[in-house]
Amino acid sequence: MSSSAINSVPSKMKAWVLGDPDELHLVEKDVPVPGKAEALVRIDAVAICATDLEIMTYGTPALIQGGPPFNKNFTPGHEYMGTIAGLGPGVDEFEIGDRVTVEIHAGCGQCKRCRMGMYTSCHNYGKNYGDQNKGHRANGFTTDGGFAQYAINNINTMIKVPDTMPDEEATLVVTAGTSMYGLTELGGLVAGESVVVIGPGPIGLLAVAVAKSLGASPVVLVGTRENRNRIGLELGADVTIDARNEDVVARVKELTGGKGADYVVDCAGSETTVNQAVHMTNRGGRVCLAAFPKKPVEFDLGYLAVNNIYLYGIRGEGKSATHRAMAFMAEKRFDASKIHTHTFPMEDLPTALKYARERIDDAIKVVVSMKDTHAAAEAAE
Ligand SMILES: [Zn+2]
Ligand SMILES: [Zn+2]
Repeated sequence: MSSSAINSVPSKMKAWVLGDPDELHLVEKDVPVPGKAEALVRIDAVAICATDLEIMTYGTPALIQGGPPFNKNFTPGHEYMGTIAGLGPGVDEFEIGDRVTVEIHAGCGQCKRCRMGMYTSCHNYGKNYGDQNKGHRANGFTTDGGFAQYAINNINTMIKVPDTMPDEEATLVVTAGTSMYGLTELGGLVAGESVVVIGPGPIGLLAVAVAKSLGASPVVLVGTRENRNRIGLELGADVTIDARNEDVVARVKELTGGKGADYVVDCAGSETTVNQAVHMTNRGGRVCLAAFPKKPVEFDLGYLAVNNIYLYGIRGEGKSATHRAMAFMAEKRFDASKIHTHTFPMEDLPTALKYARERIDDAIKVVVSMKDTHAAAEAAE
């Protein structure tokens, strides 16, 4: 279960880089060298996220050297875990050989939002080059990410992984951290309050798990796919609503004494679900948009105002939410591995991406393992 020990760090590594849109090449790169407050992580496993697919096709929200990420020798991938293989000057928070999982954003550490802990909303996003270098890092977005054998991480972005937790499960902490961030931005005190999660994708399913762990009651999941709703029940949903066959808003009101839910987390981000979220929230309640609608949506803004409903946007997983999510996962409050469905070796990344994109064989979270690649590299030494 634990990864093999770090014997030596080579000077070259295998890394996937983005060429033209949706074109990946497996190349040889220099192993990066950690600076102050940084460590070198030997990546052992990396999960594929819908945002990776978006970056490879459209470029956004990645930003390399101030522009699109294509043909810049850029390595995507942001949901990875691994083993500390090197330490920058002065780093004593970690030791070589520690198993860690990572969060994406280090932030610049000096802007107003970073000072508030909102480093995922850093005002110097992408400024890590040239004369304007503010040191911002969002691995897999503005700096090299996890579809490689090694990466550099700021010490604030690393979380120790319990020995008993498998690599694949540890990659899911960013997803759980995003769900945690959404719920804590809504106010955090969800114990005894009703929470509805719309959309049983990875973030939605773990939002159910985190809400349940935080004591919410009831926890309701709205989805259209039966197998996903079933996993939602296993992760702590008290009730699921099949959006194809039921009037979602009416059913939520029925489950909440006619008043509607205290908190609603929309993890689908469509015009339909945004409208459902607004109308199923009770007066004075709160809505979190955890998915980004791809185009402008029309909804009843007046209903929000008249009913004193608060609307929150969340960007990524700020305020150390990933660390808090790991605390739950380490205590086995929920089994995040229920959303992990497939594993492929590093060399098969294109197949892994295809499984994730087309949801082949009911794929939810597809993980790429570097174990064989590391073993082959060591054998060749
Ligand atoms: Zn992600
Ligand atoms: Zn900042």
